[in-house]
Amino acid sequence: MNHSTTQAGSEKQHTVVIVGGGAAGISVAASIHKRDRDTDIAIVEPSTTHHYQPGWTMVGGGVFRPEVTAKPMAGVIPRFCSWYQDAVTAIEPEINRVRLADGSTIGYRVLILAPGLELNWGGIDGLEAALGSNGVTSNYRQGMASYTWEMVQKLKKGTALFSQPPMPIKCAGAPQKAMYLSSDYWQKNNCLSDINVQFHNAGAVLFGVADYVPALQRYVEKYGIATHFQSTLVAVNGTSRKATFRVTTSEWQSEDREVEFDMLHAVPPQRAPAFIRESVLANDGGWLDLADDTLCHKRFDNIFGLGDVSGTANAKTAAAVRKQAPVVAENVISTLRKAPMTAAYLGYGSCPLTVENGRIVLAEFGYNGVLQPSFPKWINDGTQATRAAWWLKAKQLPTLYWHVMLKGHEWMAAPARRSPH
Ligand code: FAD
Repeated sequence: MNHSTTQAGSEKQHTVVIVGGGAAGISVAASIHKRDRDTDIAIVEPSTTHHYQPGWTMVGGGVFRPEVTAKPMAGVIPRFCSWYQDAVTAIEPEINRVRLADGSTIGYRVLILAPGLELNWGGIDGLEAALGSNGVTSNYRQGMASYTWEMVQKLKKGTALFSQPPMPIKCAGAPQKAMYLSSDYWQKNNCLSDINVQFHNAGAVLFGVADYVPALQRYVEKYGIATHFQSTLVAVNGTSRKATFRVTTSEWQSEDREVEFDMLHAVPPQRAPAFIRESVLANDGGWLDLADDTLCHKRFDNIFGLGDVSGTANAKTAAAVRKQAPVVAENVISTLRKAPMTAAYLGYGSCPLTVENGRIVLAEFGYNGVLQPSFPKWINDGTQATRAAWWLKAKQLPTLYWHVMLKGHEWMAAPARRSPH
């Protein structure tokens, strides 16, 4: 292994320090190196395994084997980077320093924050203890999508609940993707009519961008799913198989309703990691306070961010990272050279909604829900379920993730240009 796995200890200094070696951290490191091979880059990342999380939905639907969604971190962190295998606990932006869990510090000229988000399992009473038995599962939990698939195959009759927490969450479509793939399996195995499928969404609509709602609604009707909006999962009792939902009944009132289940696919509320949320770097919502276009911090001009931690109004997806990484890379290089930043991110994000095994509604949109399709309509009409989009997700995207995006090959991801000020 050529890249140095650095033992933290004494004070270290790097030109660029990246916090997080997930989809965003690795992609941006590769994109910087592609532009300037001499830039000294360090990545701080505690995990030994890198996860391709978009694959977890497919594991939960029995399409992918779990092994295809994970690789050793040592093989994913680029060899040209120094790797500090530790967690960042604090940022000291006034003195250009990050603090690590072992008490050591690293100085930087430019800092890139890509630690993803925190799944707040404790935000739903009893959920964490209930996960993994009595039919309580979550594709959002690392290693648990196989249990989802096991439960789906076992269930022949009864009640199956699928919950979605308040926004923002990563891959906003994933709670319903699990539901559609499960319903498709039950329908193909002639037991859907004996299963009461319910979707409980803390939000008020099926999907945040109206153009995609009709196609999704058709599948809701096809599977006979009962939708409950403004219904937030607040407690789970695994042993008695009861879920409690807080339902908004009027502008000022809500009431708690208990629902018995045979299977529950739960998604927890989500927030930025504490070292961001509770720092001067956060916006009012607790997310990283970045300029929408440059992805540079609004108050610290040598701090950038991308991925799920960002407070920008895009969909939190790996697809967003694909377009963000080249923008951050280009603007970081400009900053190091004391040149104006010229690259702009237009808010692209995408969500391949797996409405059945074999078809996907590929939602692609930018800031303010403006549609940003990657393909002409005759290849993929994003507002309809298509086989082409399934082929992309099931056959192409894992390879594109591991071998294109994480390697700095910026396929269809050229940055937009900032308009001159
Ligand atoms: P992550 O990939 O989560 O990586 C964050 C990294 O930071 C981790 O390696 C973590 O260990 C590290 N880290 C955390 N804290 C610290 C710290 N204190 N110090 C140092 N390092 C730290 N996206 C799509 O585009 N399409 C999909 O179909 C899709 N489906 C999804 C389905 C599910 C079930 C889930 C869970 C996600 C899905 N996503 C999808 C979303 C996608 O996985 C994320 O948007 C993407 O991984 C974000 O990348 P990131 O680098 O910001 O975060």
